[in-house]
Amino acid sequence: MSYSSIEKRLANGKTIILDGGIGGELQKIGAKMDEGLWCGRCSIDSPDELLKVHHNYIEAGADVITANTYASTPISMKKYGYEDLIEECNIKSIKIAKQAVAGKDVSVAGSVSTYGYFMKDGIKKMKPSFDQHLSILSNAGVDLVILEAMSSQADIVEVLAECSSNLKLPTWLSVSCVFDKDKNIHLGYDDDVSHTDPQVYEKLDESLQRFKKFHSGPILVAHSNMSVTEEAVKILKTNYNNTIGAYPNRGHFIKPEWKFTDDIKPSDYLESAKKWIASGAQIIGGCCGIGVEEIKAISILKN
Ligand SMILES: [Zn+2]
Repeated sequence: MSYSSIEKRLANGKTIILDGGIGGELQKIGAKMDEGLWCGRCSIDSPDELLKVHHNYIEAGADVITANTYASTPISMKKYGYEDLIEECNIKSIKIAKQAVAGKDVSVAGSVSTYGYFMKDGIKKMKPSFDQHLSILSNAGVDLVILEAMSSQADIVEVLAECSSNLKLPTWLSVSCVFDKDKNIHLGYDDDVSHTDPQVYEKLDESLQRFKKFHSGPILVAHSNMSVTEEAVKILKTNYNNTIGAYPNRGHFIKPEWKFTDDIKPSDYLESAKKWIASGAQIIGGCCGIGVEEIKAISILKN
């Protein structure tokens, strides 16, 4: 389905529902996880389970579903020995997501992430990989692209935004945020079990000035603790004059599995989502550890 109805609804101030995490839901129904690539090979190893996850999110009320391309970045596939499968794996993921949509008014997003990238890889090595991934997804016919720059430093996010700036597709940018010790919001992440040792990068408001040079589509707070999300949405609202959204996570990652800690009920998730909307978010969904039940709960906020 084309993106035009999403665009129209956003322009009219409506709320759009994005799906939740894909890897965690695949795990729950027994899909095979790869030691290095996590859920990145599921279009090849567990296609039926992948189709089922997409179906479940559509039934739960998602307006946008995300193809399982988050972990199948060219750089990570090379790192883990699957270089010859880069095209096949990504194209299959898009096909399965489109198959799940089957004529419904739901858009398919391709996820281009920073999975498997490290600062030490150097910007020069990242650029061709981002370009290759964007090109594969765009040629495979996604309706939009979500740049999932989670857990990334501003320099990497900036390069990703720059690589996508010539793309002729609607593009959303998501960033992960964390509090520093003085409760200022920075780019960064907090996957640690005890939440005592967050990785803190640049201040969010300062980073936004950089990203705005290359990106003018929606910006979303993602892969962040729920505790930081409302404040981060407010900073986006103040510093970014375009659509904003939120899709936080719960739990943490211990390769090759996502651990579902942090006890949050779907009704708690709904109450939080109402606050993100009140703070200016128009796109709401979930990231790692947020599943079909939570998306179903927040889908009543669709208007
Ligand atoms: Zn996440």
